[in-house]
Amino acid sequence: MSASTTLKFVSDAPHNDPGFIWDRDRIGAFGAVGVPSDVLGLHDGLLRGDSSVLWLRWFLEGLASPGAYVSDLTKTWTDVYDHVLARVKSVYKDDLDTDRTKLTRAITDHLFSEIERRRAAGRRNASRSDRVRMIQSQSPPRCYLCGFAFSQEAIQKFLGQPASPVVLPPTLDVLRPRGRKPHEVSIEVEHVMPVTSGGQAGDNLRLACGWCNRAKSSKTSIYDAAFTSRNPSGGAPLVLAGELQYELPEPFWVVRIIAIQRHCQADGCNATISNSELRITLKDFSGSPNPTNLRAVCPRHDPIATERFRNSALVKAMWT
Ligand SMILES: [Zn+2]
Ligand SMILES: [Zn+2]
Repeated sequence: MSASTTLKFVSDAPHNDPGFIWDRDRIGAFGAVGVPSDVLGLHDGLLRGDSSVLWLRWFLEGLASPGAYVSDLTKTWTDVYDHVLARVKSVYKDDLDTDRTKLTRAITDHLFSEIERRRAAGRRNASRSDRVRMIQSQSPPRCYLCGFAFSQEAIQKFLGQPASPVVLPPTLDVLRPRGRKPHEVSIEVEHVMPVTSGGQAGDNLRLACGWCNRAKSSKTSIYDAAFTSRNPSGGAPLVLAGELQYELPEPFWVVRIIAIQRHCQADGCNATISNSELRITLKDFSGSPNPTNLRAVCPRHDPIATERFRNSALVKAMWT
């Protein structure tokens, strides 16, 4: 990385003419410049990978929308294949049949696992023995996305045992307000792979905290989520903490970065989501909390450890 390559990237986007984004030729030329890695901050691979993930999905679903297949359970892989084959033949008119068939198979495999994923999303119930096994497989049991260790009350409730009511914490993390409602600290089951695509259903189950699970929802690319401004001045909601004033991050970005990093990003730290909860922090608090400027840290390396947890009512107000 060097200042001169970054200069080219920045200056090719003329600041005195924001209207360039509506000019086909100029936006095309800007796209061709390529993005220097320092522009992508700490998550170069993730940000490039997720743009490919998004484009891949648009391409696939543009050929055959999964929606109709999700609700009609009589539709099989072969139905999707026939649909895709007709589209592939019309798009790749001059190609060999063998190549078109191979491409159709590959596309259908992707689409059909997405269809199965969406079909499975409607039935998130795990058997009692699955639940017990998942709880016992780790001590303490943790959210597979963020490393949050579940409370005894949440575990009892999850296992259908007599449980004392879930106690909401008196203070909340301002950057990840888990604990505004009981479901956010409860245990939810996620089917990480389509239930029907091989293996036992039980192998595909993971435990997630309600907060991560809702923030994640069905999103798969970091570009699926964008923070919509809720404050009149046009920025994200602000946190004022002593000397620091910073904006709140988009919840899915928090989940995606922590779940992809899986380990504390402080040098030499070996905390991972298997042995610790990870928190999100800003690399630079004077910058916007977008994916180039967010990092995952363990509680020990949290630069705002002393001011992160604030009165629950205050944090709820920030996030509404
Ligand atoms: Zn979580
Ligand atoms: Zn650490």
